[in-house]
Amino acid sequence: MTTDIRNNLSSCATHFYHLGLMMGTAGNLSAKLTPDSFWITASGKNKGNLELDDFLLLDLEGNILENPNPKNRPSAETSIHQTIYRLFPQANACYHVHSVEANLVSRLTKEDSLKLPSIEMLKGLGIWQENPNISLALFENFLSVPKISESIAERFESSLPEVNALLIRDHGVTVWAESTQSALNYIEVIEYLFRYILLTAQNPGLFYDTQ
Ligand SMILES: [Zn+2]
Repeated sequence: MTTDIRNNLSSCATHFYHLGLMMGTAGNLSAKLTPDSFWITASGKNKGNLELDDFLLLDLEGNILENPNPKNRPSAETSIHQTIYRLFPQANACYHVHSVEANLVSRLTKEDSLKLPSIEMLKGLGIWQENPNISLALFENFLSVPKISESIAERFESSLPEVNALLIRDHGVTVWAESTQSALNYIEVIEYLFRYILLTAQNPGLFYDTQ
């Protein structure tokens, strides 16, 4: 019996919902079915208990290939997933969640990137360096989602991100990976790093160079 990748996405959504990362209808998850198509969460669904018909199958241009519930529309943020899949063909899953911590850390800088702490947990994002100096790309939020997608494409086409993640200010984080399991891990790791950044910002004495 082949596993329906939608079950995988649904259980991830429930997991994130219980971690407080996908409250109400917030956030969206997608995974490729084939190299040219992906399942994505429907717009406006509570993320605690998604059913198989709460997903739509789209091609990489955003055309609907399959919609088990014709009343459903694709996630309002579908264009970001399309942009990620176009920029990074090796990506097979793209997850986007809205946490309190992601929103707060995005206000720690007015720059277009957020420095990530040089701690062991960075290995969880694939960074294996001594004292890594890694930044997370930070984008402005716009009511028009295609405008956010355009700014992501424009930036990453000229300079590749250092990690498979991006942050939208006052909004949330997006990660992409070769598998749904890796995308889940990336969300957990990046949210851990956000909590770490917030706690260190609240406790500056913890930094060696401020003592
Ligand atoms: Zn969002």
